[in-house]
Formats: sequence, C-alpha cells, structure tokens
Amino acid sequence: MTVYVDDMYKYSMGRFGRMKMSHMITDTHENELHAMATKIGVARKLYQGDHYDISITMRTKAIQFGAIAITLRELAMLNREKEMKVPVWSYSFLSTYDRCPSQAAAKYVNKTYPYEGENEALRWGNAAHNAMEHRINDNVRLPNDMQQWECFVEDLPKVEAELKLGVRKDYSPCGFFDKDVYGRGKLDVPIIDGDVGFIFDWKTGKEWEDPLELKIGAVLLKAKYPQLKEIVGAYCWLKENKWGQVYDLSDTDSTQKWIDETMEKAGRSNFWTPKKNALCGWCALRDCPYFKDRQG
Ligand code: SF4
Repeated sequence: MTVYVDDMYKYSMGRFGRMKMSHMITDTHENELHAMATKIGVARKLYQGDHYDISITMRTKAIQFGAIAITLRELAMLNREKEMKVPVWSYSFLSTYDRCPSQAAAKYVNKTYPYEGENEALRWGNAAHNAMEHRINDNVRLPNDMQQWECFVEDLPKVEAELKLGVRKDYSPCGFFDKDVYGRGKLDVPIIDGDVGFIFDWKTGKEWEDPLELKIGAVLLKAKYPQLKEIVGAYCWLKENKWGQVYDLSDTDSTQKWIDETMEKAGRSNFWTPKKNALCGWCALRDCPYFKDRQG
C-alpha cells in the first residue's frame, strides 16, 4: 500500500476552527491516490495537484483501507525523495528492477506505470495483514473468517508486528523516512531471542517460494540488532494455512553486496531497459516490445 496520511491535525496549521485536517499523498501513481479518495468519500475536485486535504474522520477511514499513518515530518521527507532519481531501495523496487529495469523505472522513478486499480486479491491481502497486525500488537481477536490463523500467532512472544526499519548507505540503522535513508522495509513478524533472529512473513498469494524478501528483511534486522549471529525466516502461506520452508538468512553480507550492486546499476540511467521475463504477460506497459496482451 502506498497511500500515506500525515498528522497535520496535531498542529495549528492543520486546525481550522473545529476541523482537524491531514494531508493524504502517494509515492506511486496519482491514480492510486484518487482511488483511495473515492473509497473514503472525498471528492476529486478537492485534489490539490499532488495531495488531498482530508478530515480526521476520512483519515481514519483511509487507514482502515490500508493507508499508512505517518508524521508531518515524514511527509516532508517523502516529498524530498520524490525528487530523487533512484528511489530508496525496498524489496519491491529491487525485485522489480532485477526482473525488468524498464518496469522498475516506470513504477518507481518516472511514475508512468498505469494504475490498474485495487483487485480482490490485493484487498484481501491488506485485510489479512491488518488483522494479523492488530491481533499481535493489540490482542484484537481475528475476524471469524480468519480464525484458522490463530495457531500462527497464539504462542508468539511479545513482538512488534509490521516493524518499519531503515538503513543508511553504510548499513547503520535509521528511521524509515529519515533524510539519509538508503533502504527500507517492513517486517511482518520480527523476533529477537538473544543472538538469534526470526522473521515470519505472511503471504496471501499463490504459494511460490523465493527467499529474496526474507533475505532483504534479514539485512534490515541485522542492522537494527548487530548482535545477531543467526537469522532464520519463513513465509506463512495463509490461503493454504501452512508454514513454508525455513531459510537460514544469516549471510547478510552477501545480500548486502547484491543490493549495492543492483543499486549501482540502477543509478546508471542506460540500465533502464526492458528485459523480457516470465511476468511480461502481467505487465501493463503496452508500448514495450515484449508486452503480451493477456486478453489476446
Ligand atoms: S513487458 Fe516485460 S520487458 Fe516490457 S516493460 Fe513489461 S516486464 Fe519489462
């Protein structure tokens, strides 16, 4: 989810009489912002060119639909990043860039990737993550149709679900939106037990094991907890109601090296070229020579 709502309402600049206002912005395609505005009942005519000003009631609704709450300061940082050529790395950017630099440029740099709307799978994925986060962090009962996942959370130690982590260029830890942040990620369930770390990641799509997301999570966890000697992780396939493979993620140096090499390549603009891959059939860039019309 890439729509954000800030806490401007806490400051005098966000208060107009009894009204308490916040900014709502996106760091991807503006259509995603318009879609969220429609969902929460904010009229398009209130669009301010790059954001919406929304009331505190609408802010709460947006969060219920998956928007991320940030501070006013974090919003300023986000706006600064928009002017950067190569984005802050994340699993999404790195994996997309690795698969196809051209698609990554359209999605994360030029922001020209067509917005395809929120489908049922995405809605369900957001709802599942939301429910698990509230179950772990606030002990809120899982909804009836998600009760079967109680077994995955009932014995967890005290942890912070959906932990937001950032690193600087030298891989020292920093805030998610700090001005010198180089890479960032959110860990669904990070557990620290002495010098051993565990990462569990909820998956709501079709079962398909690839440890890259966990490996990148391990780099962020190691930066935050340098005492870790061993890190293991696993995906939890919620539709199938089962754990996936367990991976040893302790070799964070190799992952770090791969990240740096990928970012260096991305920094050279002539690398933003199309790369034919198995997912071209699901790409929306119709002007690419490798575009495949799924309907055709
Ligand atoms: S169609 Fe394939 S090669 Fe072309 S931009 Fe999309 S993912 Fe890349």
